[in-house]
Amino acid sequence: MARWNETTIRELVSRLEAFRDTCRPTTLTTIEQLTRSPFHILVSCIISLRTKDEVTHGASRRLFALASSPADLAGLEEDDIAQAIFPAGFYNTKARQLRQIAAILIDRFNGQVPASLDDLLTLPGVGRKTANLVLGMGFDIPAICVDTHVHRISNRLGLVSTSNPAQTEQALTQVLPRDLWIPINDLLVTFGQNQCHPTSPRCSTCPIAGLCERRGVVRSR
Ligand code: SF4
Repeated sequence: MARWNETTIRELVSRLEAFRDTCRPTTLTTIEQLTRSPFHILVSCIISLRTKDEVTHGASRRLFALASSPADLAGLEEDDIAQAIFPAGFYNTKARQLRQIAAILIDRFNGQVPASLDDLLTLPGVGRKTANLVLGMGFDIPAICVDTHVHRISNRLGLVSTSNPAQTEQALTQVLPRDLWIPINDLLVTFGQNQCHPTSPRCSTCPIAGLCERRGVVRSR
């Protein structure tokens, strides 16, 4: 059982990095590497909510072929956006939000994505998860993006003991060295998609099993 300190956390991260290197990159990481653009990260993150990664990938690619800036996006009809991002979950709602976001970026932020948590949280459809991802991946500002994978695995590992993502974000800021705040999301998302699944994690072949407290795990492979 791990007793978490900087040494064990860095050992954990090193093993997660080795694991990630054997997996296909996530859509958001691919977009980050291709574009280095907060706008693209923000749009893809909105599309990705409640949507499978491969669907997000195709939907983002189709939309970016039509619009690569807030001004382009504001010039599209809502139906065109919906058609481009279909079959992403809630594609009609997301199309409306994306068009509203583009208009707000132009009206209030000089056509740029703001590099501030408070400003990002004023955009329709943007919660802490999306805002922190944009800060980290888009601007390189240390922020912890806690999605369902980060919340679940952090608790299973015993890194935190929390009941919702907001608590997990707060608790992880106390546990993780600051240089790990941005990369921990991609590491745990990749790990959650490929190994530590929600209902039946693959504990028997897990590369971090020796560090994991397996809290709350009742069924595993
Ligand atoms: S041992 Fe099981 S619960 Fe723990 S991280 Fe590995 S797969 Fe997840």
